[in-house]
Amino acid sequence: MREKIVAGNWKMNTSVTEGVQLTREILAGATQIPEGVHAIISPPYTHLFPIAQLLEGQNRIALAAQNCAEESKGAYTGEVSAGMIASVPCSYVILGHSERRTYYGETDQTLWNKLVQALENNLRPIFCVGELLQEREEDQHFQVVASQLKHVIGALEPADFEKIIIAYEPVWAIGTGKTATSDQAQEMHAFIRSFLAGIFGEATEKTPILYGGSCNPSNAKELFSQPDIDGGLIGGASLKANDFLAVAKAFE
Ligand code: PEP
Repeated sequence: MREKIVAGNWKMNTSVTEGVQLTREILAGATQIPEGVHAIISPPYTHLFPIAQLLEGQNRIALAAQNCAEESKGAYTGEVSAGMIASVPCSYVILGHSERRTYYGETDQTLWNKLVQALENNLRPIFCVGELLQEREEDQHFQVVASQLKHVIGALEPADFEKIIIAYEPVWAIGTGKTATSDQAQEMHAFIRSFLAGIFGEATEKTPILYGGSCNPSNAKELFSQPDIDGGLIGGASLKANDFLAVAKAFE
């Protein structure tokens, strides 16, 4: 049985006070999260410490950072290292989100460096891949995703690969309200699993592959019922406690 995961990516939203309040609301409803579903929230860096304190002593909600530095420490003004994030404490880190690739020029090399830092500091990576609209229209989507996986995830040692969570996020579906159909998503998830199986073999059967892109309470059930979709990376709908909890409940 593969892990089931619902991860909320808050992006650059909420003040610290609002983020703490949102966390309180999610915690208050956490009993609604079906047994065995891992719920993760990913607030901005500034919120991690106070939210980690709120989460202490419970195991229903875990914490992720949205990014980490390529380097471990030193003269890198404005950067936050994986070691700093782990010391919060925080257990997960999102890497390779399309907004980081597009707006901050993150390349395979950048992502490899970040992946190494995350793993060295025992942060579990949620590694995002996904094609642009034009790439799908030109029927390049499998090639694009294969390349994003091959040059970064494909270079891992098998023991490190076992810690990886993949998130397939077609860029055309992120924040657009235009969700991939469950068939489109399942087709890509199955492709990702078989592509990774070509490198890592049977271990891939245990790799959680999340879907992201306008996933919300009204479409989550259908998406999560697909055999290769193990949960979601949720943007907009993770900013309202009830919506986030409703997405988690879609596993029922
Ligand atoms: C995301 O940015 O990871 C995401 C999936 O956003 P949204 O759910 O808002 O499309």
